[in-house]
Amino acid sequence: MIDLSWFQENAPLFSGELIFNEPLAKYTYYRIGGPAALLLVPKSREDLAWIQEGLRASRAPLFVLGMGSNILASDAGFPGVVVRAGRLNLEIEDEGGGVIRTGGSVSISTLLRRAAIEGWGGLEFLTGIPGSVGGAVVMNAGTHLGESASALLGVDWISLQTDAQDDGASARIFSGDELKYQYRKNLYLPGAGVVWSARWKIQMAAPAEVKRQIDETLVRRKSTQPLDRPSCGSVFKNPKESGKSAWQVIDQLGLRGHRIGDAQFAEKHSNFILNLGHARAADVRGLIDLAKARALAELGIRLEEEVMYVGSFSLCGNQ
Ligand SMILES: Cc1cc2nc3c(=O)[nH]c(=O)nc-3n(C[C@H](O)[C@H](O)[C@H](O)COP(=O)(O)OP(=O)(O)OC[C@H]3O[C@@H](n4cnc5c(N)ncnc54)[C@H](O)[C@@H]3O)c2cc1C
Repeated sequence: MIDLSWFQENAPLFSGELIFNEPLAKYTYYRIGGPAALLLVPKSREDLAWIQEGLRASRAPLFVLGMGSNILASDAGFPGVVVRAGRLNLEIEDEGGGVIRTGGSVSISTLLRRAAIEGWGGLEFLTGIPGSVGGAVVMNAGTHLGESASALLGVDWISLQTDAQDDGASARIFSGDELKYQYRKNLYLPGAGVVWSARWKIQMAAPAEVKRQIDETLVRRKSTQPLDRPSCGSVFKNPKESGKSAWQVIDQLGLRGHRIGDAQFAEKHSNFILNLGHARAADVRGLIDLAKARALAELGIRLEEEVMYVGSFSLCGNQ
């Protein structure tokens, strides 16, 4: 049993929000997820140092949440501390010389609105991705137009790891060759921590042209993606070695439109699993496990999740 009393006792020293037994469904795009034993929404670097101290005292497991757009949280919730990094650093700054710096908590839509006003070209590939800068950095988020790795120059990271040598939350800057990425995956961020800010290269362009490209891409995405129901976007990464897209694999298995409970492979885009109303995490996970097992057995294709799991899924299949 995890003892979270340190957080309760030291709450007056925390400037953010602190909520015990808070349903994660409120913080995920899927609108699914049982309670986090403790949800923390820090507002400052001092808050991060406080969290690090609490984690050291309690030895509680940690999960860092951005805007929750790529998350499937277990029905049983998370038996530890969830840090929601949505109110930390919301700054967007033009450093000059074709470089901008954005806070990790800035939403991609806010960043793109600003890019369209200022004429910051080169970030259009993020269009339609409904998360935060922190999530994009961690996930190497991208679209057919490109991926975060190609525009990132540096990442300012604050570790919350409890075995850090110093007392406060310790900062690290990653840049250049250190920013190692694969498709929808980073290979360099160490364990537990938060993206404080990111530096991106841009190319100055006519604001109207940047806006036109963003608007066109949004229209295209709206016509091809089922955006009227909760989802996490693409559930599976494209299995590139098979030469197929994940949606083609799901179609080949005849799973488009297939339902478990209120979870459904979308008719409009079969690599999306929708929450039709009251889907449980176990329903979504059931569809994921079904597609993975059948893709391997029938097509010899290994599907890999793009969605991230929070909490335990041991009751509904192979974790
Ligand atoms: C309708 C829809 C469409 C989508 N389309 C795309 C798409 O085209 N391309 C694409 O790549 N993705 C897409 N996604 C998935 C998702 O939007 C991206 O993965 C996004 O980058 C996640 O950002 P987030 O802030 O919501 O992070 P979360 O989903 O909250 O978290 C994702 C991961 O990032 C980590 N994380 C988030 N913020 C921080 C932070 N500040 N510090 C440290 N770690 C952090 C979390 O620990 C977790 O590991 C889509 C999702 C939806 C719902």
